[in-house]
Amino acid sequence: MNRDAPPAALVAAATRAWQQAYAPYSGFRVGAALLADDGRIYAGANVENASYGLSRCAEQSAVQAMASAGARGFESLVVVTDTDPPASPCGACRQVLHEFAPQAEVWLVRLGGEAQLRTSVDALLPGAFDLHDSHTADARSGPDEPG
Ligand SMILES: [Zn+2]
Repeated sequence: MNRDAPPAALVAAATRAWQQAYAPYSGFRVGAALLADDGRIYAGANVENASYGLSRCAEQSAVQAMASAGARGFESLVVVTDTDPPASPCGACRQVLHEFAPQAEVWLVRLGGEAQLRTSVDALLPGAFDLHDSHTADARSGPDEPG
C-alpha cells in the first residue's frame, strides 16, 4: 500500500461524486471514493441541508454506502476538492473512517489531479476512540449468511 499516486479508479469515482455534490449553501463540493475489502468501489458526495446540522460529508456518505452494501473495511480512500492544497477530512469524518479502516491510506486530491497528498487514517486521527477490541468485534464482521 505504498504508492506514489492515488489509484486512478478511485480518483475517477471521487471526481464523479464531486460533480454530484449537493452544496447549495456552502458552495464547497467534496467527492470521496474508497476501495472496500469486497473489491468494490463505493463513492459519496457531500449532501447539505437547509437545516445545516443535518448536512453529511462526502467521506461519511461513502462509508455509509460501503457498510450498507455489507463491506466492513477498505484499503484506500480518495477525497477530491477544488482547493489547493486539497482539503482534509473533518474531525467527525476521521472518526467514521477509523471505525472501518484505521490502517487505510488516504489521498487528498485537487480536482483535476494536480495536487495530491498521501496520508492515512491513523495519521489523521491519533488516539482515536475505539471499542473494537472489546465490545463490537462481532458487529464489525460481515453480514450474517441467510438461513
Ligand atoms: Zn467530514
